Amino acid sequence: MTYDLVLKGGEVVFPGQGVEQATLAVRDGRIAAVLDASERPAARRVLDCRGKHVFPGLIDPHTHIGFGDKENDWDTETRTAALGGVTGLMSFWRGNELLQSTGTWRAEADKHAAVDFGFHFGITSHAHVAELKSAMATHGVLSIKVYLMYKGATGAAKGFTEVDDGLLYAALATGASIPGAVVGVHCENTEVIPFFREPLKSAGRDDLRAWDEQSPGFLETENVFRVAYFGEKAGCPVNIVHMSSAESLDLVRRMRHPNRPPIHVETCIHYLSLSHDEPIGAIGKVNPPLRSQADIDGLWEGVRDGAISTIGSDHVPRKKSTKGPSIWEATAGFPGIAQILPVMIEEGYFKREIALETLAAATSSNVAALYRLPRKGRIAPGYDADFAVVDLDGVTQVQASDYPSNSDYSPYEGKRLRGRVEATVLRGTVLVDNGQWVDEQAPSGRYLHRR
Ligand SMILES: [Zn+2]
Repeated sequence: MTYDLVLKGGEVVFPGQGVEQATLAVRDGRIAAVLDASERPAARRVLDCRGKHVFPGLIDPHTHIGFGDKENDWDTETRTAALGGVTGLMSFWRGNELLQSTGTWRAEADKHAAVDFGFHFGITSHAHVAELKSAMATHGVLSIKVYLMYKGATGAAKGFTEVDDGLLYAALATGASIPGAVVGVHCENTEVIPFFREPLKSAGRDDLRAWDEQSPGFLETENVFRVAYFGEKAGCPVNIVHMSSAESLDLVRRMRHPNRPPIHVETCIHYLSLSHDEPIGAIGKVNPPLRSQADIDGLWEGVRDGAISTIGSDHVPRKKSTKGPSIWEATAGFPGIAQILPVMIEEGYFKREIALETLAAATSSNVAALYRLPRKGRIAPGYDADFAVVDLDGVTQVQASDYPSNSDYSPYEGKRLRGRVEATVLRGTVLVDNGQWVDEQAPSGRYLHRR
C-alpha cells in the first residue's frame, strides 16, 4: 500500500484540539491515515516536516477576487494565497442578477484558480432577494452579505438604490427559510458618517486616524445591534463580518443566548494587527476603519475565548496608485491574504500566547463549519489533504514584490513577522515548496459547492 504523499513527523495542529507529532498519509487527494511519527509508510513523495508545524490549509472566509484585474485575479490572487498557506477562499460575488452571472464568474474561476474557491452572494436589491432561493440552490451557496454601508447617498454613488433596513429584514427573513443559510452584514451606520466627516475634511485632516474618526467604532456597534436583533426576530443566523471594534464584540457577547439564532463574528487580520496610528496613511484606508490598540487587544481576547470564530483577510487586490492622493479620495481596502498566517503567529501565538489550535480553528474548521464546506477544515482520515507546513521560527519579511498578486503594495510592507510558510498542499498536490510556488503546477482549484 503505497501512499501518494506522506508528511513526515511534523507537529500537527489539530484545530480546536491540540498539537501532536504525527505523520500524515495521503491518497487520492484525501487524508488516508494519521500515523505515529515513528512509522515509515511507503510513499511516492515524502515531505520531511520534522521541526515544522503542519496546519490545516487555511480557508480565507473573506476576499474580493475580481476587484483588482477582474478574472485575472483568479490566477494571481490564488497563487498569492497558496504562498500564504491558504488552500481555500470564499469570495463575494454580486451582479445585477445572481443566477446567470454567478455561472459565468464561476467558469472563469474554474479555468484559473490555483486553490479551492466558493462564493458569498452580495445582496443589494429586492430582485436579489427574490431570486435568492433558486440562485443558492443552483450554485450551492449558503451565505449572503448585506452592505448596510451602502445605504442612501453612499450606495447611490455605487449604483445601489435599494439598500435600507427593509432590504436587510427581507434578506434575513429569506435566510431564515433556507436551512444552513447565514446572513453576513457589513455593519457601519453610513447615515451618521457625514456628521463626523465634513468637519474633519474642512479642518484639512488627511491622516489615517481621521478615517477612524469619520466613522467611529460605535457606528459599527449600533448596526450590530440592529442586525442581531432583527436576526433574532426573523429567526436567522447572522454573521458580523470584518468586526473592527471591541465594543461591538462586547455587545454580541451580551446579545447571544442559547435559545436565539446564533450571532457569528468574523474579524480580519488588519483589525488584529494594524491600528489607526500605523504610519501608512491612505494605504491603511479600509471600511470599517482601522481602530485603536485597545480595540486590537479586545478583539484578540475574543479570538482567544472563541467569541470570534473566524478570521479572514478582506483581500482587495487593487494597485497602490488607487490609494491616494488623500485619505478622502483613496480607495478602501488592501491586500492581505498571504499575511493571515504570519500575523496570527506573530501577534496571536508569540505576543499573546494564543494556542495554535485556536488560531487554526479560526482559519479552517470554524470556517468550514460555518459555511458548510464538505471535507474541509480538519486533519482526519477522509478529509481533503490541505495543509500549510509552517516554520514557526522562520521569519516572513513582508515584501509585496514576493507575490504574484495584482497588488503592488502591502500595508505590512517591511514588517518582520515570525512564522514562515514552507509548503502548501492542496488535496495532496504540493503547490508551494521551500516557500516557492512550484512552477509547473497547473491551476487545480475546485469550486466549493456547499452542503
Ligand atoms: Zn464589508
